[in-house]
Amino acid sequence: MLVGAGGNIAVQIGDEGVLVVDTGVAAMGDKVLAAIRKLSSKPIRYIVNTHLHPDHTGGNEVIGKAGSTTAGGPTSILSHENTLSRMSAPLGKPGAAAPASWPTDTFFPEEKDFFFNDEAVMLYHDAAAHTDGDAIVFLRRSDVVVAGDIFITTGYPVIDSQSGGSVQGIIAGLNRILDITVPKHEQEGGTYVIPGHGHLCDESEVLEYRDMIVIIKERIEDMVKRGMTVAQVKAAKPTLDYDLHYGADSGPWTTAMFIEAVYGDVSKALNQKPAAAPKPAPAAPASKGKK
Ligand SMILES: [Zn+2]
Repeated sequence: MLVGAGGNIAVQIGDEGVLVVDTGVAAMGDKVLAAIRKLSSKPIRYIVNTHLHPDHTGGNEVIGKAGSTTAGGPTSILSHENTLSRMSAPLGKPGAAAPASWPTDTFFPEEKDFFFNDEAVMLYHDAAAHTDGDAIVFLRRSDVVVAGDIFITTGYPVIDSQSGGSVQGIIAGLNRILDITVPKHEQEGGTYVIPGHGHLCDESEVLEYRDMIVIIKERIEDMVKRGMTVAQVKAAKPTLDYDLHYGADSGPWTTAMFIEAVYGDVSKALNQKPAAAPKPAPAAPASKGKK
């Protein structure tokens, strides 16, 4: 695990070469490459991107050019197909990135696996989580899960709605990680989980994080069912008991933004269940036209 270059980076090394999961921000590309070179002088064969954001894909160009496939071509950069679609959008569109950093190899179904350095490398796609192109990487023999931004220890999960993310998908992704991980003893140790941002974890920390998101989502869901507006929900502070640890009043992802995103997702989900429950009748305007 390499830290300090944007999103966390995982490096798997062995006789066949090097596999890198995520590449940090572009400005740190050379430093990341130097750090990888300290671990192994073998060719960098694969880069896997957990999703499109530039703090996870910015080093693709520098690190990709430094490596090669066994056939002599440039390093294979692997991602879910939705990640490539968004990165290859016309410049100026959200998610668009320079062609040199684009994935060269994509997978579309839910899972992909291949064998490298004596271990199975498993990729799992969770639709509509942090984005709609997330890949969780499981290094099966090493017993390490690389979570991408579905799991971060530095704050509430970032739901990139513009790139197809949703709180329901985040929970599904965390549940998948919990399916994979096995604790060693008294809920400690065992499978390691590298979060998208923050410190190295084991299953117990993912479990706590999952439970927190579920609790907050259920609180907000309950408020939406009672007809509360997003302003009223924010004022009711549904995250209060977790804010000390995860909240933020400033920066790119504030507590208010998190609450708004969850509010939007649960409202949409409730509206999609026609007449599932009789609506309480506060004098709220019909919200049928809501997107
Ligand atoms: Zn991200």
